[in-house]
Amino acid sequence: MDTDCLFCRIVAGEIPATVVHETDTTLAFRDIEPKAPVHVLVIPKDHHPDIAALALADPGVAADVLAAAAAVAETEGLRTDGFRLIVNNGRHAGQEVAHVHAHVLGGAPLGPMVS
Ligand code: 5GP
Repeated sequence: MDTDCLFCRIVAGEIPATVVHETDTTLAFRDIEPKAPVHVLVIPKDHHPDIAALALADPGVAADVLAAAAAVAETEGLRTDGFRLIVNNGRHAGQEVAHVHAHVLGGAPLGPMVS
């Protein structure tokens, strides 16, 4: 755990979050500022700054994050009409929290991807 990391502190229960899915290695919770009717963040419980770091260090957990995102899409009713799965990495992508997280977005037409 990185004690300075917001999402590590959510995993530790130090900061509240609305958890919608949990496994041994992952946690999924609602985004505090949702950009779609459904906006869930899926994270590995262990601290990794971005998807590249996670995939290199622990590809099995990277796969767990994908599986958890799929499970969230299922339980949130997003499989029929579709959903968007986004992982922002680094400054140019606008990553704000340096603990890798996948955004699961859906529940309405999302429009084209923004630049
Ligand atoms: P990024 O821009 O890093 O890809 O996305 C970070 C996301 O974390 C944003 O969508 C933001 O709304 C969300 N976020 C920031 N702080 C909190 C928080 O304290 N709780 C929750 N649930 N989400 C947060």
